[in-house]
Amino acid sequence: MKHVFIAGNWKSNKTIAESIAWVAQLKEQCASLQVKWDAVTVVVCVPYTVLLTVKEELRAASLPVAVAAQDVSEFGEGAYTGEVTGKMIKEAADWVVIGHSERRKYFGETDEILKKKTEKARSAGLKVIYCVPDGLAPVPDGVEVVAYEPVWAIGTGKTDSPQNANAVVSTIKSKTRASIVMYGGSVTPENVATFVDKPAIDGVLPGGASLIAETYAHLIAAAVGNP
Ligand code: PEP
Repeated sequence: MKHVFIAGNWKSNKTIAESIAWVAQLKEQCASLQVKWDAVTVVVCVPYTVLLTVKEELRAASLPVAVAAQDVSEFGEGAYTGEVTGKMIKEAADWVVIGHSERRKYFGETDEILKKKTEKARSAGLKVIYCVPDGLAPVPDGVEVVAYEPVWAIGTGKTDSPQNANAVVSTIKSKTRASIVMYGGSVTPENVATFVDKPAIDGVLPGGASLIAETYAHLIAAAVGNP
């Protein structure tokens, strides 16, 4: 069985108390489902305000789950009120998501801005999960992990077909140096296997299905062939 990459995206959800409860529930659920941790790399993409809390709770729970920020400043340190730099994120996380469709849509993030963010993230030592809406969008140099996320499939309950997702992922692989390319868009415990069973798809990026720890645990288990 191939190694699967799963990156759950909480978006703009969860307080500190809710994050702590989520980690405790994830531990319990994954233990009862006997998740095959050696077959999967799991990341959870959380708001800045809970990065450190989630990292520490995961470590205390001995859960092999990495933490990601959901954005990074295109600038360095300095007079950029409200911005969070790669260096700040690196204290609490190894990963960052760049180019999510909601950042592109609501915050006007262009390919040019996303390229700058990628450079800042990489120079801070962060690993990048770079989201693209299709097989045509540019992927900055040095990105190793990409998520193909058709806009119409995000948060809608409608998925791309596994066949088409596999074809788009193959296209992205042929045009970039990304070694891991995931599919994202309404992935659930019930449909995850149909995506990760496809030869080119290395994993999935679920949003809604990562919010409830029990659902996320079931999704992880289903992706790696647990019953
Ligand atoms: C996402 O957050 O990128 C996403 C794909 O969300 P959902 O799984 O809820 O469609």
